[in-house]
Amino acid sequence: MSLRYSILASGSTGNALYVESDEHSFLVDAGFSGKQMEALFQQIDRDISKLSAIFVTHEHSDHIKGIGILARKYKLPVYANEKTWRAMESNVGVIPAEQKFIFDMESVKSFGSVDIESFGVSHDAAEPMFYVFHQSGKKLVLITDTGYVSDRMKGIISNADTYIFESNHDVQMLRMGRYPWNIKRRILSDVGHVSNEDAALAIGDVVGDRTKRVYLAHLSLDNNMKDLARMSVAQTLQTKGFIVGEQFDLYDTDPKIPTIVTAV
Ligand SMILES: [Zn+2]
Ligand SMILES: [Zn+2]
Repeated sequence: MSLRYSILASGSTGNALYVESDEHSFLVDAGFSGKQMEALFQQIDRDISKLSAIFVTHEHSDHIKGIGILARKYKLPVYANEKTWRAMESNVGVIPAEQKFIFDMESVKSFGSVDIESFGVSHDAAEPMFYVFHQSGKKLVLITDTGYVSDRMKGIISNADTYIFESNHDVQMLRMGRYPWNIKRRILSDVGHVSNEDAALAIGDVVGDRTKRVYLAHLSLDNNMKDLARMSVAQTLQTKGFIVGEQFDLYDTDPKIPTIVTAV
């Protein structure tokens, strides 16, 4: 038995993560149009209609754009906490009541041998939460859209096999960039997004002997670059005594191209 995943796309323009076991398949967020989501599934040669569930992290449009369309077209069950349901209701349109499920923050749902655990993050949405997938001792962590990584979050996500970790911006690029000051302040705040450097510090705190892969995710289109993110995260990790490529590998993610389906 194994858990497999593909980061379908990740970035400030849209996010979607595909996860499957031998019996079930899941989607976390659908931050693209229905057509774009279908194209992403085609690229990994998987069938949207077979999904057991869609889990929603929070109501920002780069996470929910395709939720309503996919739910209606393929009659898929959608899971979110109550506050997120309320906050996204007007943007996802009508989803039949029998397809709407509550997934409370800091709780676990089981689908066969897969346990999905939710945990809260610090972000300017109604009740944002992310997910840890567990199966037969393996652990896959998705954490983006958080202003910082608290000790409580670190406890929940520690020593996973695979991390998909926010590395949103380079602080210097953001400060010098073209965004208006109020937006810069929001991104840099405790309820905004994690910078390359803060990502590296948090990654250094949570990786363990099980950790094999860390993907840098939710990169800002305007305030980051793949090479810069990888380099600065690797550099900061080095100052903490980690050698990337030896203990674990570091990968980037693309706003449009899925990663190949990989075992956790
Ligand atoms: Zn986002
Ligand atoms: Zn967000």
